Amino acid sequence: MAGGLSYRQLGTTGLKVSTLGFGASPLGSVFWPVKEDDAIATVHEAIRLGINFFDVSPYYGATLAEQVLGKALKSIPREKYYLSTKCGRYAEGFDFSAKRVSQSVDESLERLNVEYIDLIQCHDIEFGSLDQVISETIPALLKLKEMGKVRFIGITGLPLKVFHYVLDRVEPGTIDVVLSYCHLSLNDTTLLESIPYLKGKKVGIINASPLSMGLLTDHGPPEWHPAPEQLKSACADAAKHCRERGVSISKLALEYSLKNPDISTTLIGMSSVEQVRENVAVAREINIEQQPDHELYQEVEHLLQPVKNLTWSSGRQEN
Ligand code: NAD
Repeated sequence: MAGGLSYRQLGTTGLKVSTLGFGASPLGSVFWPVKEDDAIATVHEAIRLGINFFDVSPYYGATLAEQVLGKALKSIPREKYYLSTKCGRYAEGFDFSAKRVSQSVDESLERLNVEYIDLIQCHDIEFGSLDQVISETIPALLKLKEMGKVRFIGITGLPLKVFHYVLDRVEPGTIDVVLSYCHLSLNDTTLLESIPYLKGKKVGIINASPLSMGLLTDHGPPEWHPAPEQLKSACADAAKHCRERGVSISKLALEYSLKNPDISTTLIGMSSVEQVRENVAVAREINIEQQPDHELYQEVEHLLQPVKNLTWSSGRQEN
């Protein structure tokens, strides 16, 4: 019989996080409308089943995701979960200035109903000036760390090279975690190339969007999904192929991402109790020693081969 969820160290933070992490962007109704009661029940089910890492941002649903997550966590003892939120990206645009990020952390603390945030991350740094992130944003966050408002600092983004740029220019130990998304999934595995470097820098690695933000699902991606048509259509074909074999591509995709032992937690976006149960069941069955299925996996790999590692541009040209 399958055991419970597993937990891994998040870099050198000392946080032992569930390998399956809760991505809270869907709680901001960014994929489709989510009722508040359903959102709260989803978070409570995740806690009940052992998920202890929750990731959100003031950007998701223009602060809605933080508000709803805050309501859900109000009745949960603080030691039961780790909370990660972000700064620098907002519904109204990007602002990585020291003043804005400091104010933003105060606003997040209030919306989330907590006295401290475990991990504060500069959100999608490729849209800002990387030099400003290094010289102004990170020092501002270090001050908040001294004040006890945040415990650890991270950076997030789509192009992997922005992590290298920043980590090569800050004091070791300044940045604790990086969050990469859409680069370790069935259709895109480019994060693998950066893992030795990131491990060398002793940062914890979070992999987000194992379903490539909805590409690797039966219902398909939301309207706003930035992937090129060729990638959308190849993923839709792969999903159909899995359906015909009686398997959900989401299960296969999540299984693939969860198997990498260098990833502390894989963040999947969830907005229903059923999704939590389904995804926790997949995580419980994972056996790292065992190779992922088999024939079906190879067939999907073959179908996705023409679009392998195809991505989209994100952020400023110079980054
Ligand atoms: P994802 O790949 O996790 O896909 C989410 C979609 O898959 C949602 O529509 C969800 O309803 C659906 N889904 C979840 N479980 C499913 C299942 N079992 N079967 C079918 N569909 C299922 O993409 P995501 O939500 O964008 O990423 C996960 C989280 O990672 C986000 O919520 C966010 O917290 C974080 N993230 C951060 C950044 C960043 O910092 N720049 C970027 C992307 C994601």
